Amino acid sequence: MAIVERQRFWRPKACGDTLSPRAVRQLHDLGLDAALTGLARTEGIRLVVEGRTVEVPWPTHPELPAHGHVVRRDRLDSILAANAAAAGATVLEGHDALAPVLERGFVRGAVVQPTDGGPPVEVPARYVLVADGAASRFGRALGTFRTRDWPFATAIRSYWQSPRHAETWIEAELELTDREGTPLPGHGWVAPVGDGTVNVGISLLSPAGETRSVNPAHLLDEHVRRVAERWGLDPSRPTETPASGRVPMGGSVGPKAGPTYLVVGDAAGSANPFTGAGIEYALETGRMAADVLHEALAANDPTVLQRYSAMLDAEYGQYFKVARLTSAPMSRSWGRTARPTRGSRGSRAVPGCCARSRASAFAATPSASGRYASPPTCSGHTDSVPPR
Ligand SMILES: Cc1cc2nc3c(=O)[nH]c(=O)nc-3n(C[C@H](O)[C@H](O)[C@H](O)COP(=O)(O)OP(=O)(O)OC[C@H]3O[C@@H](n4cnc5c(N)ncnc54)[C@H](O)[C@@H]3O)c2cc1C
Repeated sequence: MAIVERQRFWRPKACGDTLSPRAVRQLHDLGLDAALTGLARTEGIRLVVEGRTVEVPWPTHPELPAHGHVVRRDRLDSILAANAAAAGATVLEGHDALAPVLERGFVRGAVVQPTDGGPPVEVPARYVLVADGAASRFGRALGTFRTRDWPFATAIRSYWQSPRHAETWIEAELELTDREGTPLPGHGWVAPVGDGTVNVGISLLSPAGETRSVNPAHLLDEHVRRVAERWGLDPSRPTETPASGRVPMGGSVGPKAGPTYLVVGDAAGSANPFTGAGIEYALETGRMAADVLHEALAANDPTVLQRYSAMLDAEYGQYFKVARLTSAPMSRSWGRTARPTRGSRGSRAVPGCCARSRASAFAATPSASGRYASPPTCSGHTDSVPPR
């Protein structure tokens, strides 16, 4: 097996760095418990809605651990690459997959080029797994496309030093506003990395796939300013330049399988439309695809690949459908909302209501076996966050 990766590990990646229990379960199954030891651990999510906080522990579930982690993606992805290499894969770092190798219409590998300027070479393969992320140039070359009126998010994050870097709760603020206080669909987060810093970011949702004339960097500035006092950080001193990216969601990219290839992770638009989380879905879809490929190789039967789309549908179809149906009125509600002055509660009525429904969605994710995880129990309401 060969893995082609354009960048070199450790490489940075725009991400909130939060691993849900479902992601931790996948890492556990890959035998990576030891690699996670000592990394920041989380008990759940502290939701901030309309000036009130609710601590929502990760749900109790028979198949999932009761904790998550926060780990920088340069580190996590290096761990995963090293694990694949230890299992026998050839990891071609610093190689760009330029185009599929096609033989009578079947994908039989990739044309790859070293990013340091060497000549392109062909890497032959019986089967190809497309895992090139949200932009997915390789997938587009095979004919994948995103359903444009399904949700996607634009997210941006950076790091700040904080005395609360070792906390065990991720904070999610469900009321995203621009500089004028206009409510927008999305959320802001603070994820304690445990290394002296916190990862602070925002995710702006486009519920019906529409593009917005809002600068995400300005929304991040506003969010950082709001959380600065309670997290003890200096908004003007991020430790690195903010990095952003798009997150296609809800299975919005397809087709997900061809005669000799499968599409996983963001390349398949797999992230959760309620939360924007995509790591667990990348790991899970990768695992399902690996199972299918293993069977196809063992049985010498490429038709097995066609089962993959049905597996995805069984696992996520219903949940993603609910997400899309919930998103549509959310989009209309935000569109109707008048521009309020900062702190004007009345004009926030509709988004506030949507924020509450998203609050429950944050914790009710489908389980690793297709059933919904049990709803969380609230550990209590506090008014520790002063109303804005
Ligand atoms: C700001 C931000 C915050 C986020 N926060 C979270 C979070 O806290 N938790 C969470 O679960 N999800 C989060 N997400 C979503 C999450 O990052 C993605 O869903 C997840 O990384 C998808 O994994 P992937 O492997 O499919 O794609 P990626 O992680 O994007 O990996 C794709 C890889 O393919 C490589 N590549 C691309 N093109 C080529 C090519 N042509 N040749 C060779 N290599 C190529 C890239 O270099 C990259 O390493 C966030 C996203 C953003 C933008």
